[in-house]
Amino acid sequence: MKKLLRLGLLAGILGMLGVGVWLASRGTGPDRRNLDALVTVGGDAVRDAIHPAIDLTRMSSAEEVRLGQAIDAEIRANLRVGSDPSTEAYLQEVLSLVSAGVRRTDIPYRIAVVQSPEINAFAVAGGRVYVMEGMLKFVQSEAELAALIGHEVSHVDLRHCVERLQFEQQARKIDPGLAALARLGYEIMQRGFSEEQELAADENGALLAGKAFYDPWQAETLFARLLPKEAQQQRRPGRNPVREAVVVLPDAIGRYLATHPPADQRIEAIRRTLNGHPELWRGQRRYVGRSNLMQRRSLTILPDPAEWLTRSAAPS
Ligand SMILES: [Zn+2]
Repeated sequence: MKKLLRLGLLAGILGMLGVGVWLASRGTGPDRRNLDALVTVGGDAVRDAIHPAIDLTRMSSAEEVRLGQAIDAEIRANLRVGSDPSTEAYLQEVLSLVSAGVRRTDIPYRIAVVQSPEINAFAVAGGRVYVMEGMLKFVQSEAELAALIGHEVSHVDLRHCVERLQFEQQARKIDPGLAALARLGYEIMQRGFSEEQELAADENGALLAGKAFYDPWQAETLFARLLPKEAQQQRRPGRNPVREAVVVLPDAIGRYLATHPPADQRIEAIRRTLNGHPELWRGQRRYVGRSNLMQRRSLTILPDPAEWLTRSAAPS
């Protein structure tokens, strides 16, 4: 009965969204922004309706790592991945510090740079994190970078990446073989996660950075600058006009499953989390690392004594 109710709800929302999308595509109904709002409203309800109906069998970490290697090959075949060895070594050091506090200790975390001006980063199943060059320029301290890496690592540590992949595979009835899964992993990697998962990754990421001796409040400064920018990037008109016109419907469906919580809600969640964990910062010496970021020398190598701070209260 509950299942029926769920399916009814799902059908209703899909119908409602279908009409909205159709009207929007004809230019007679809600404009694209209203459509986005509609999708956001529908998002959680649709996800809740679908999610329990699909039974995800838990993939072992070994299987997930193997899958991650295949997704990595797919990513490298499609995007320009790689940077100078000193930048790569630097990022790997920061990643090692941040991932020291994870729950899933059997996942080998790796990080790579994608040669793209986009201000973006993402993680895929199996523990691989990719940071776009644009994002590397955007972060202003090693502690901000640590918060960003912490966020991405958390999507793996909290199993968001692998569950998302399994969910899409089952919902879209895609061949569960390694090659098809790797292609799917590449296809979905740049989509966000659910609101709940994004908030969980923000919170867990800030805690991971704090545990690694970084000033965890830099997560707040990073997201306060980043989130308005992200919203702007998503709204940028005519980024790919053909795709915009043709793929409105699948795009909207993708967004049922990936709705971004508003920026202020995310900042608030980070503040709440850090205020709940004063042992990670209050009265503790914590690292910021502005100059060391520029020199690509991590906290582990000659950190500048001027780069540490001790907070007695949360920043206002
Ligand atoms: Zn995320």
